[in-house]
Amino acid sequence: MVISPAATPAPTLVGRPARPSRDRMEDEIRRLNQRVRELELELISKELKDEVSRGGFPSPLPTPAAAPSSAFQENWQARTDARVKLLCSLNRAGNALCAWHDSRRERRAYPPRMAPPGYLNCGCTFDEALFEESLARHGVGSYLPGESVRMDPALRNPLLKLLQQRYHYRDGDFEREPVTGNWIEGEGASFWEGKVTAGVSYSRKYRGEERRS
Ligand SMILES: [Zn+2]
Repeated sequence: MVISPAATPAPTLVGRPARPSRDRMEDEIRRLNQRVRELELELISKELKDEVSRGGFPSPLPTPAAAPSSAFQENWQARTDARVKLLCSLNRAGNALCAWHDSRRERRAYPPRMAPPGYLNCGCTFDEALFEESLARHGVGSYLPGESVRMDPALRNPLLKLLQQRYHYRDGDFEREPVTGNWIEGEGASFWEGKVTAGVSYSRKYRGEERRS
C-alpha cells in the first residue's frame, strides 16, 4: 500500500481527542499490514490442513506414512525370504546369477559357491536381483529368457540405491497399496512361499543350466 505524501490525512476517529501524527498513522498501517499477512498465512495453513485431512494431497513417498503393523512386518520378511529362495538360489553349477548376468557369458565375480552372504556369483546383491524382478513385473525391462530388453545393472543398481536413500525403498514396496499399505491382492508372503514349496524356481525352470546344457 502506497501512501502519497500529498494525501489528505485520514479523518480523526470519533472519540479521539488528538489527531494522530503522520508517524503514528504509518506505524498503525504497518502494524495492520503485518496482521493481514499473519491472518492470510493462518488461513492458508488451515486450508492446507483441511485439504490434507481430506486426503487431497497424496504423500510423495511410495509407502504410506503409517508404520506397518508387526504382523505385516513379519509377513513382509517372510515374503522377502521366499523371494530370495526363489530368485537368488544356486543353480546346479553352484552359481546364483541375476537375470541380466545369467544371459551373458561374462566372467563371474565369484567362483561357484563362493559368493559372500547377500551376494550372487555375478557380483550383484540379493536386493539388486529382487529389484530387477520387481521392475520387470512393472514393465521396466524384462526378466525371462527370450525377452530382449533388460535393465542394465549399470542403471538398475544406482536406481535402487537412489530409491533406498530417498524413499527407504524395500523389496515389496511396488506391490503395496499406496493408501492402505497392504499387499496388492495375491502379493503377500503365502503367494511367494507357495511358489517355493511348489519348486518353481526361475533359476532352474526358466533360466540357467537346463536351457544351456
Ligand atoms: Zn548380476
